[in-house]
Amino acid sequence: MRGERMKPKWMPLLALGLLAACATAPRLQAPDGMQALNRRMVLLPGTYDPEQGDGQPDGNSILIRAPDGLVVFDTGRHEQAFTGRIIAAADTWRLPVAAIVNSHWHLDHVSGNVPLRARFPRAKVYASTAIEGAMQGFLADSRRNTAARLATLPADSAAAGYARASLARIDAGPKLFPTEPVLASGERNIAGMAFHVGLEDNAVSGGDVWLLDPSSRTLLAGDLVNFPAPFFDTACPHGWSEALARLDAQAFDTLVPGHGAAMTHAQFGIYRRAFDRLLACAASDAGVADCATRWENDLGPLLPESQHRLSRMLLDYYFQAVLRAEPVKRDKYCRAG
Ligand SMILES: [Zn+2]
Repeated sequence: MRGERMKPKWMPLLALGLLAACATAPRLQAPDGMQALNRRMVLLPGTYDPEQGDGQPDGNSILIRAPDGLVVFDTGRHEQAFTGRIIAAADTWRLPVAAIVNSHWHLDHVSGNVPLRARFPRAKVYASTAIEGAMQGFLADSRRNTAARLATLPADSAAAGYARASLARIDAGPKLFPTEPVLASGERNIAGMAFHVGLEDNAVSGGDVWLLDPSSRTLLAGDLVNFPAPFFDTACPHGWSEALARLDAQAFDTLVPGHGAAMTHAQFGIYRRAFDRLLACAASDAGVADCATRWENDLGPLLPESQHRLSRMLLDYYFQAVLRAEPVKRDKYCRAG
């Protein structure tokens, strides 16, 4: 008897069936308040209203269906109101969180690592190691300031509750850290899916990770792209501009910023130009209000009018605290050399 005749007749059908299943895997359904980016990615939009709650933002979070489970890009700040929705979506889809990728260590992007890892203990965490230095520097300072403020507040006030929650986020310490440190840019398999992982060490936070999915040509940029204005708290302004040039050279059609709506590559080009013109304006004699107007005009419809007030408030602050501070302060977070 020849070998071919031994082969059960259903084998080719099974193989075809599996192929078809892969090609037509159902679109990941976006729960209420989330937005489908493509067949396998859903955006949970971040929130930012300085007059609501603790006044602190959550960054955007992107949920990706990978072969081994969900990949969660950034995990938010507020456990109940934000990260809880990621867990609820994972439960609805019956997909475990297999991996977390943190764009950077700011607390509006990493705090949710704690509840997510408690619920999915096997999840790997991909991030740069910049958080280790930040725990000794920026976050240690921030903790001291918050503890001092807490001491002045009535213990049962809402403000005291927010302050205690802020301390707890920092005190989570190593629970926020990567289990799989990103030490260089390159190709990386995460939860069974091939990504290009980028590392920028001289832009927003001393260790910014971005993720490119070549199959959908979608780039997740974290706060390298940010609305309504760049957050310069721990940034190296000129290094950031160079990082944006590297992002522009990538092959993507859709870019998701750290805060704000997804955009096309052409729109990112507009953002990049506006960013560089903002730095040039800060270095000129123009008034901060003029620079803020140019920022609005350069971005056009990318920055809705409803965001102008907050954008001006942020630019007022960052011009004074960073962009027009003495060089030692302005370049405090720039890599030496
Ligand atoms: Zn952020």
